[in-house]
Amino acid sequence: MATAPRVRFAPSPTGHLHIGGARTAIYNWAFAKQQGGTFVLRIDDTDPERSTEENTQVILRAMEWLGMDWDEGPGKGGPDGPYFQTERTQSYRVALERLKATRAVYPCFCTTEELDAKRRAARERGDSFQGYDRTCRFIPPDEAASRIAAGEPHVWRIKVPEDRGTVAFHDAVRGECRFDAGVLDDFVVMRSDGTPTYNFATVVDDAAMHMTHIIRGDDHLSNTPRQILVYEALGAVVPEFAHLSMILGADGKRLSKRHGATSVESYRDMGYLPEAIMNYLPLLGWSPDGETTLFSTNELCERFRLDHISRNPAVFDPEKLDWINMQYLRALTPAAYVDAMEPFIERAGLATPRDIAGDRAWFEAITPLISERIHRLDQVAPMIAYLFGDTVELDGKSVEKVLAKEGARDVLCAMHDALFAATSWAAADLETIGRGVCEKLDLKPKKVFQPVRVAVTGSMVSPPLFESLELLGRRRCLARIRTAMAVAL
Ligand code: GLU
Repeated sequence: MATAPRVRFAPSPTGHLHIGGARTAIYNWAFAKQQGGTFVLRIDDTDPERSTEENTQVILRAMEWLGMDWDEGPGKGGPDGPYFQTERTQSYRVALERLKATRAVYPCFCTTEELDAKRRAARERGDSFQGYDRTCRFIPPDEAASRIAAGEPHVWRIKVPEDRGTVAFHDAVRGECRFDAGVLDDFVVMRSDGTPTYNFATVVDDAAMHMTHIIRGDDHLSNTPRQILVYEALGAVVPEFAHLSMILGADGKRLSKRHGATSVESYRDMGYLPEAIMNYLPLLGWSPDGETTLFSTNELCERFRLDHISRNPAVFDPEKLDWINMQYLRALTPAAYVDAMEPFIERAGLATPRDIAGDRAWFEAITPLISERIHRLDQVAPMIAYLFGDTVELDGKSVEKVLAKEGARDVLCAMHDALFAATSWAAADLETIGRGVCEKLDLKPKKVFQPVRVAVTGSMVSPPLFESLELLGRRRCLARIRTAMAVAL
């Protein structure tokens, strides 16, 4: 019986969770869900200079925000913990001892200066092989032992077997991959300060955590043959691999800060919903059937297949993400919409959570006015700012184009009087009144409604007029129309 897959996402907390990292995490997570497997979160914090606790927390929060629950990992524990590499140093030491016992590794005493000089010389000679020249591989074991005993600094290198030939593996995305072991140098597994290198720590952990599939970015493809040699030296089962193509910006270069925001957090702060991100990111290299664009997280977990991932690099398309986000925003209930927009309204200084809690119905009534116009929640505050405060700032261009036109004042005057006499302030009744004014003045609706729109919302472009009037209330609408009359022609 095949065992259920075990996969992991292993971010290095040297920065925030990048969009590309998030896609890797999603693929691992969805694969585990689809297969009834286990998703492990491991924090690869072996780089002491660049790893920070704060980054770890930001990554964990981003994972939680996206709704990617891990089965084992920080805060959860699990049978194969700890899940921070800095807490696993003992297992790297034990693994190294095993490799020493089988002479799969050897100590190397070459200094950095010596290595630099060798590399320079190789370059000058025009050698195609510029890796380590294996000098220390041939030091007799007892001589090496006495140099270690005398305290001579050394690293441990893996012995690439002489006759290893080709390291071949099947990659779920890229198919057959083959690397000539002859071009792999005897790479370092343990540094002189006793810390493991990435290629060693990763394999020791992935083996100890019983990983069955390694799904990661193809920036690690060239590490894979080296890691396979470590699995073989440890006598561990080599997992399956799936290397994901990079995400590119519109210019065809690898997605980076130059293209704009890259961290998951910044997308949250721009007002993307987690469901939209969980829909868009998987599309960068996968789709349920090649055409479906919108799918729920549940569908993703049901339909995700590793062997349907494209090997072509995907291009990040902010417009498509916006469109998808809009679909999710439109599907929110008014109550959920208000919850989602609350932090954005608060940040813009329009209302506090307390104001919102005290007037839920009013805030919920705003949402149908804007949901067809909003791609991201950070667009909400500028669009609804006119609904707050007694007065409104009139946009210069709108004044010039609408209020400063002959007859605008008379229109405002007629509308003011008609609205003043209104017995109901419901949008539909206000519209009836407005249309009555059009008839009376024998003017097209646009001629009558545009000046009112500018007067009340401050701009020619706004959410629907009569609903806005209803939300603003009689007193503020009439006052704003009177103010505008003073500047109208
Ligand atoms: N910590 C590594 C990284 O963030 C993990 C790579 C891997 O998945 O093996 O790149």
